[in-house]
Amino acid sequence: MSWPADYHMHTPLCRHATGEPVDYARRAVEVGLTEIGFSDHSPMRQDDFDDWRMRFDQLDEYVEKVRRAQKDVPQLTIRLALEIDYLPGCEDWVRDLASRHPWDYFIGSVHYVSDGWAIDNPAKLSEWAHRDAWEVWSAYFERLTRAAATGLFEIIGHADLPKKFGHRPDQDCEPLYEAFLAAVKQAGGAIELNTAGLRKDCREIYPNRDLLKVAYRQGVPIAFGSDAHAPGEVGLSFAEATALARSVGYRHCCRFAARRREIVGL
Ligand SMILES: [Zn+2]
Ligand SMILES: [Zn+2]
Repeated sequence: MSWPADYHMHTPLCRHATGEPVDYARRAVEVGLTEIGFSDHSPMRQDDFDDWRMRFDQLDEYVEKVRRAQKDVPQLTIRLALEIDYLPGCEDWVRDLASRHPWDYFIGSVHYVSDGWAIDNPAKLSEWAHRDAWEVWSAYFERLTRAAATGLFEIIGHADLPKKFGHRPDQDCEPLYEAFLAAVKQAGGAIELNTAGLRKDCREIYPNRDLLKVAYRQGVPIAFGSDAHAPGEVGLSFAEATALARSVGYRHCCRFAARRREIVGL
């Protein structure tokens, strides 16, 4: 069988990943992938926003690194993308970024639910001690729903990220999932199955099976990503991810080129 494209991987420009794009590309060929996409953390309008993304003046260098990998590993299809943080009011900045290079897709992700706190940042783990899990999940999904509704992103990333360190609310999250996925569907977007969760404390693919079932019921398409921060993580756990997708009914997934979606067999 052929694997779906791995559309989520980083580069050293984000300051917390190792290996050049060409190393990720060679690894992808080794594990039998035919298509990947780089989606490094995009610059914010202010370079000092945080310390885990490329600076704005590195955007061209990022594109060049991906182009070099395309040239050096021609047998692999390599897409050019960004993982963009959705913050309320960032829409013009996303459009600005979109106009600068011929991107293949954008992943819209929420890491920040409030100013200065990225919920998945291990350095900020202690913040969770002051927070109520339900309030964080609710705030997160509210923001994720807004991100989806903008229609600025082909893929919404790691849709239940707040579970990363194992913080799960007791309340029923299905209404949050329903509202979020309705926004994705309405805007013509897709969600990703992100295998990085298997390597975190939550030990589970993002999103969980319940969310994915709602996605299938609502007709929301899917894409796949390893969220690799090192070449050895490319394509990791794709057997589990495709099995999960198939187990809730999916038989198709997405490919992207020039910000257009194609539905292919899974
Ligand atoms: Zn992310
Ligand atoms: Zn990522």
